[in-house]
Formats: sequence, structure tokens, C-alpha cells
Amino acid sequence: MSDCLFCRMVAGEIPADVVHETDRTLAFRDINPQAPTHVLVIPKEHHPTVAAVAQVDPDLLSAVVRAAAAVAVQEGLATEDGVEPGYRVVTNTGPAAGQTVHHLHLHVLGGRPMTWPPG
Ligand code: 5GP
Ligand code: ZN
Repeated sequence: MSDCLFCRMVAGEIPADVVHETDRTLAFRDINPQAPTHVLVIPKEHHPTVAAVAQVDPDLLSAVVRAAAAVAVQEGLATEDGVEPGYRVVTNTGPAAGQTVHHLHLHVLGGRPMTWPPG
């Protein structure tokens, strides 16, 4: 989709600080980080929400989740077989959750204590 910000990043039309890439996923640093580590993990293919991907391509959803886990390890937020120090994965869906970019993205947040509920 030519008018989608994240599709344009995948296409290389807008610069991205890429930290991880697979054949089907891309991960880059958020421009307005909410934690010391704040990475967005997206499918290269355009899908508006997690629900949309789950319905039409569950393998792609799995690839995005696995990429988020790999980013967490790469960023020192967890080990291959452990959960220390820990991190949060969030995906906002729709206006009530504050979704502003309508291309599925998992926020991977870490490097500081996380409060719950998030507000
Ligand atoms: P949402 O609000 O849809 O869950 O998250 C969208 C995220 O995209 C926000 O955290 C916002 O900071 C990030 N974002 C918006 N524009 C850009 C951009 O041009 N580059 C990067 N790297 N992140 C962006
Ligand atoms: Zn898109």
C-alpha cells in the first residue's frame, strides 16, 4: 500500500533504524521511544491488525511473534531459555487502544520496570 507509512519503510522509501529482518518480517526502532528499548516488529506484507493476520495468515503471525522474541534476546531483554530481565509486547488495535498506524506492529518494550495495568 503506497500510502502506508510502514509499507513505505519496507520498500525503503522512508528510512528505518532496522535491528532485525527475516524474509517476512522487519523490526526497527520506534521514532518516539517509550522505554530504553522500543522496537516495532511488522510483517512486510500489509495487514491492518493482529486479528486480520490471524485470520488470513496465521503462519505470518507466528513469524512476527518469533521475530519479536528474537529482538528481545538481541536487545538483552531475555535469554534464549529465560525471561530475565523481561520485556513487554503490545499491539494496539483500533481507536480505543490508540492505534495510529494501520499496519500490524508489535511494540517490544524493555529496559525499565513496566507498570500494570498500562493505562
Ligand atoms: P500505534 O500508536 O499505532 O500503536 O504505534 C505507532 C508507532 O509508530 C508509535 O509508537 C510511533 O512513535 C511510531 N512511528 C510513527 N511514525 C514513525 C516513523 O516515521 N518512524 C518510526 N520508526 N516510528 C514511527
Ligand atoms: Zn502497510
